[in-house]
Amino acid sequence: MLTDLLTRCQEWLFETLIQPLMFHAGLSSFLEDAYDGTLWLLAGVIQIIVIIGLIGPLERWRPVEAVTDRRSVRLDVVYTLIHRLGLFRIALFFTIDPLWDALTSKLHLSGLDGWHLDQLWVGVTDVAWVSLILYLLVFDLVDYFYHRAQHRFRWLWALHAVHHSQRQMTMWSDNRNHLLDDVIRDSLIVLVSQLIGVPPGQFILIVAIMQLVETFSHANLRMSFGGLGQRLLVGPKFHRKHHSIHYDASEPGPKGGYNFAVLFPLWDLLFRTARYDGDYEPTGIHDQTPQHGSRDYGQGFFSQHWLALKRMVGIRGVGWTRPPGRRADPHTVSPADTGDARPGA
Ligand SMILES: [Zn+2]
Ligand SMILES: [Zn+2]
Repeated sequence: MLTDLLTRCQEWLFETLIQPLMFHAGLSSFLEDAYDGTLWLLAGVIQIIVIIGLIGPLERWRPVEAVTDRRSVRLDVVYTLIHRLGLFRIALFFTIDPLWDALTSKLHLSGLDGWHLDQLWVGVTDVAWVSLILYLLVFDLVDYFYHRAQHRFRWLWALHAVHHSQRQMTMWSDNRNHLLDDVIRDSLIVLVSQLIGVPPGQFILIVAIMQLVETFSHANLRMSFGGLGQRLLVGPKFHRKHHSIHYDASEPGPKGGYNFAVLFPLWDLLFRTARYDGDYEPTGIHDQTPQHGSRDYGQGFFSQHWLALKRMVGIRGVGWTRPPGRRADPHTVSPADTGDARPGA
């Protein structure tokens, strides 16, 4: 029923908008790919509707802090639209996709893509909702370790800092990432989906679920899922702790980072990186405060990308985020330095 409705919407969107545009631009040889891409566009439109219609009112109802920097929020909206409405995907199609296709056929030739996770226990793991949960768990575990790497390796942190430098975190902040960071992460996810044999139709659903939970967990929203709930699913309180300006997020190891999980806090609990103490804290990177040098991470899309590349190129070696023996106290930034998160206005 739902699948039928989505297919009809996909056809309608393709025939009324995408197909005429493609003909007009002389790109009719890509019509088949564009039809598949229309489903991603549709998923993005549905997500934007949910963000504005559902999460937006929640943010206005119980905000963690007043929105004072509207310019930086508007920039996060741009990041989100680039991602969810297909611009990023179109760019990938013309740049990285040929590489992915080459890699996929290499995997195929090596017989590495013949395995299907949902065939693990026939009759159980091939039930649609069971396989969906299994896929989500696998992708989430990959995301957890990629996120740990983003905080551990200096060159990856240089890119990931774009995401953490937002001091006005809202439901639009999830896609505020360096494009190179997104390419690396997406390539990893595509590779894993090939290795565990995720059907393309389910892949879109999985990505959409993950993106919506990520959007919600960045919301400027005073909402916890309760003692048990916040151990089952990542929510705004759990992820805000990860963005806290009160510790040096570039510090290697758990000292510099907590609550890395995207969907399931299970991984943080398992690998001892979960933290549930404290309240809703102000977000940002410790060295943005005057006491730690007021580092500039850029105010616009291009400056944020350029400064990240400069930070990355300036690193000698690709080792840990900080040489051993020079570790800063992770709690050297006091709330007085940063201004506590204010109750919503
Ligand atoms: Zn992070
Ligand atoms: Zn985040």
